[in-house]
Amino acid sequence: MTVHVPDSLSPTPSAPTYRGRYAPSPTGPLHAGSLLAALGSWVLARQAHGHWAVRIEDVDRLREVAGAAQGQLATLQAFGLVHDGDVLAQHTRDARYAAVVDDLLAKGHAFVCHCSRADLAAHGGRHLGVCRASGTRPDPAIRLRVPADTRVDFNDAIRGPQSQQVDVAVGDFVLRRADGFWAYQLAVVVDDGDQGITDVVRGADLLDSTARQILLQRILGLPTPRYAHLPLLLDAQGRKLSKSLQAVPVDARDPMPALRFVWQALGQAAIEADTPAEFLAGAVARFEIARVPTRDLVIAASHNTAATHDA
Ligand code: GLU
Repeated sequence: MTVHVPDSLSPTPSAPTYRGRYAPSPTGPLHAGSLLAALGSWVLARQAHGHWAVRIEDVDRLREVAGAAQGQLATLQAFGLVHDGDVLAQHTRDARYAAVVDDLLAKGHAFVCHCSRADLAAHGGRHLGVCRASGTRPDPAIRLRVPADTRVDFNDAIRGPQSQQVDVAVGDFVLRRADGFWAYQLAVVVDDGDQGITDVVRGADLLDSTARQILLQRILGLPTPRYAHLPLLLDAQGRKLSKSLQAVPVDARDPMPALRFVWQALGQAAIEADTPAEFLAGAVARFEIARVPTRDLVIAASHNTAATHDA
């Protein structure tokens, strides 16, 4: 049984058949890893003569840094990564997420869960069909019921065939957190659906979330976009660059070094250009998805050179 999703943000019938998006969380300034994801999703949308949206993923107000969203948007602008249409911010979408979750609860696809982390610890932290709550809590979570033997297969345009048995690997997953915030998995699926996104191009840290998102799309009766997961930039300790922000500066006043750096990290052949506009025109002409590394990249210690090697 599917849940009816009102068409609040759907594209008009004449909309392009390729609709991509870049969806940063406003947790700090754009760093090289986020610029890589922005450039990768932008260039594929432009090659396809498609629509490229920017969405601010600010459901988790605890992680939000004041002014970060405006800073990220200004940096994208300075780099020439111009989005189409209005920027959608998730904090404006509470009523929409609530309506979807109410429907899922009413149809038995979701349930209220009082389990604490300690209750789930004996099960590898997963919620597997049965609530183990040792008591009721004033602020329960809401979880998606993941039926037994739920296997999701998909083909990633960069990483190839993927498969996850969601009930075993993840279990019943959270749609609304116990602290009242909407879960990323819910917000991203509802927004991608409402915005008519056909192509999700993003960092490979979300490869593992994709099966959950496809499952939720199926339950909601939403189409599944195509997926492409770009390599992460890691520091020598294997941490995402966001954890060590200064590794490769992304300077809005001087975009060329960072543009060249992420272009090389995307495995692409050098482009001769003096300005971001020239560079981006060359990028649209030359980008080849087959050249994108299929593994994450460790930034060499002399990080301001664009030296990378496979993790
Ligand atoms: N907001 C997520 C992030 O900044 C990206 C989510 C997505 O692209 O699906 O890592």
